[in-house]
Amino acid sequence: MQVVRTIPEIRALRQQLTSSVGFVPTMGYLHEGHLALVKRARVENSTVIVSIFVNPTQFGPREDLSAYPRDLNRDLELLRKEGVDIVFVPSDDEMYPSEFSSWVDVEKLTEWLEGASRPGHFRGVATIVAKLFNIVQPTRAYFGQKDAQQAVVIKRMVADLNMMVEIVVVPTLRESDGLAMSSRNIYLNPEERQAAAILFQALTLAQRLWQGGEKNADELRQQMSSLIQREPLAKIDYVSIADAETLEELSSLERPALASLAVRTGKTRLIDNVSLDLKGAAIGNDINTCQ
Ligand code: AMP
Repeated sequence: MQVVRTIPEIRALRQQLTSSVGFVPTMGYLHEGHLALVKRARVENSTVIVSIFVNPTQFGPREDLSAYPRDLNRDLELLRKEGVDIVFVPSDDEMYPSEFSSWVDVEKLTEWLEGASRPGHFRGVATIVAKLFNIVQPTRAYFGQKDAQQAVVIKRMVADLNMMVEIVVVPTLRESDGLAMSSRNIYLNPEERQAAAILFQALTLAQRLWQGGEKNADELRQQMSSLIQREPLAKIDYVSIADAETLEELSSLERPALASLAVRTGKTRLIDNVSLDLKGAAIGNDINTCQ
């Protein structure tokens, strides 16, 4: 496994590759969720490239950029075990030299949900992913359903800017109580960790109501909210039942939808989602590869 830190180095390696390249962009502090993306990339491509870069431009001024967990040696060991070929670990200056001034803005889809709660977040995400795609030139790139809006935004960017890459969305990996795996779960103290199970409980409640024939999206939002409000350590940021494609809030569940939420547990902001779509509708099963 080669670990490279500069753009010229990774370009030189890329130029030698003639068959498929699977690419998994990450911010490191890897867990089984990240590794699910790597495993899928390993199966589907001749070469697997993973990037580890805590992208400063997707963090707001009051967010957790400096506290974001990092453990490069552990990450590299995990990636080696998965048979990854190349790991790209650029510095901030490598990706954003002082004269940097070009940005990718995906409109509309980014006005809601995470985009509304975290202004500028998706501008940072779209810009870094576009840069990484230009540098790595992958055949396929792998993203988690855990960050459903991110996956929708990246697909829009790829289509709008005619990028030559196939986007593959991989189902969310969860802990045994349903909590979606996340690098940020490390911030939770034992009480908060227990309370955090409420996110998935609220999402599966929405799924059950929808499967039982409930078509009123407000009813779903209300029932999810009142369940979460019963957990004293949880504070709702948003609870959403949105169109799976446009991400606009729905009033009636006549189309494939996404139930999603952001909840603060102590100081930690957690997000999660499940699909309300006939394709991936079994309770507790949010498989929605939406490719
Ligand atoms: P991050 O390091 O948080 O930027 O995540 C890198 C990639 O891993 C993103 O595409 C995430 O959506 C994906 N990911 C994070 N957590 C999970 C999870 N629990 N299951 C599946 N994919 C995940």
